[in-house]
Amino acid sequence: MISVVEPATAAVMAEVPRAGADDVDAAVERAKGAFPAWRAVEPAERSAILRRLADAVEERLEDLAVLEARNAGKPIGDARGEMGMVVETFRYYAGAPERLLGDTIPVSGGIDMTFREPLGVVGLIVPWNFPLVIAAWKLGPALAAGNTVVLKPAELTPLTALELEKIAATVLPEGVLNVVAGPGSVCGSRLVEHPDVAKVAFTGSTEVGRGIARQAADTIKRVTLELGGKSANIVFADADLEAAAAAAPMSVFGNAGQDCCARSRILVQRDAMDRFTELLDAAVREVRVGDPLDETTQMGPLISAAHREEVASFVPEGAPVATRGTAPEGDGFWYPPTVLAPVGQHDRAAVEEIFGPVVCVIAFDDEVDAVAKANDTIYGLSGSVWTRDGAKALRVARAVDTGVLSVNSNTSVRVSTPFGGFKQSGVGRELGPHALDHYTEVKNVYFAT
Ligand code: NDP
Repeated sequence: MISVVEPATAAVMAEVPRAGADDVDAAVERAKGAFPAWRAVEPAERSAILRRLADAVEERLEDLAVLEARNAGKPIGDARGEMGMVVETFRYYAGAPERLLGDTIPVSGGIDMTFREPLGVVGLIVPWNFPLVIAAWKLGPALAAGNTVVLKPAELTPLTALELEKIAATVLPEGVLNVVAGPGSVCGSRLVEHPDVAKVAFTGSTEVGRGIARQAADTIKRVTLELGGKSANIVFADADLEAAAAAAPMSVFGNAGQDCCARSRILVQRDAMDRFTELLDAAVREVRVGDPLDETTQMGPLISAAHREEVASFVPEGAPVATRGTAPEGDGFWYPPTVLAPVGQHDRAAVEEIFGPVVCVIAFDDEVDAVAKANDTIYGLSGSVWTRDGAKALRVARAVDTGVLSVNSNTSVRVSTPFGGFKQSGVGRELGPHALDHYTEVKNVYFAT
């Protein structure tokens, strides 16, 4: 059995059966059996089924949000937002089956046309930081395109995925969506090597992503990877410093920093450093850390004791702590919001993904220096540019090597726009129209006339 722990109390909140490789094989078999009928469902009917799935999740939104808040340790308001996004994602991709358009291409002697065919059985491996919503980003386009699915949630947070499987059983044909809750090294790995799985979509650490890419090569499996980040929040001296400083804390302490989009490096133009850090200090002290089920909480605990130890290793004795917020004492994996400054560009905390509420503040001189520092990382997922100069904002946005960038804002994710990384932050895009490319194969047909 898996003993599922509630991070805010460190107590076991549920026991669920632990799946093994045989369970993965059985789930793949069910998904393979369901594929021919699911791909043959008329496009309008597949749309209607996905809308019903969205409605069925919406009916359960509050109890799913509470379950997610408790199991992942996230503030209830955030959990409600995520469940809302699950619903929105299924509704958005409900529009896709009738819009999977092909091309006709002028050729001699006949007609040439393209089709977007489903891949077959796809394996989805998702992490513990945004358990159900990241699953939905993959499920929406996968199901809309006519694939069947085996979903493996993280062992730390399997509860909402298992609930979704039950909800989906009332709406989807049998075998279309299967959930296996078991360890990544066993169940995830089996999905990646399984010859009947056509594609694996993974979100998690860059290290595990590398291994999946390697293992997938054996069967030339399609792979999309959403991996780590070390995103830069670039604040120019001509920015609205009050707005930039007010927004900065939650762009890195949101979800207790366990967010691949966390703006964990704040790059500040030297002339504005004193004023910005003064404003940031005040904003960080206001972050309310506490019980995830308290409506006023902005940040909960970390996911596990082991992860808290890893996060703490980035703030050793003598670390340059400029601001430390507050966190509850006692049981639960609490860690206070922490600002490190000044930090050298190549210090460990400025280079590695911390995945906790620890942010580095680093100075830059000018636009060229800002871009060089922002790009001086193996990652390239998200980032922000704060300035009142529109042309500079666009120049910098184009020059920073990341997949998702915002100007005078720290938002990264919308259902209707593409999300994914450059460099070692990943391969492929989720959400928006682009995700469908990764769940379909282009077929070209020539018809001699
Ligand atoms: P992992 O990458 O280990 O976990 C992500 C998912 O992959 C989980 O479902 C996990 O299963 C599964 N998995 C683990 N090993 C394998 C494998 N060999 N083959 C297939 N699937 C596997 O992340 P961690 O939980 O270990 O977190 C470690 C670090 O990764 C974090 O500190 C953070 O830096 C980064 N991370 C980044 C995320 C992102 O959103 N980009 C999300 C999560 C982590 P299980 O956990 O059940 O064993």
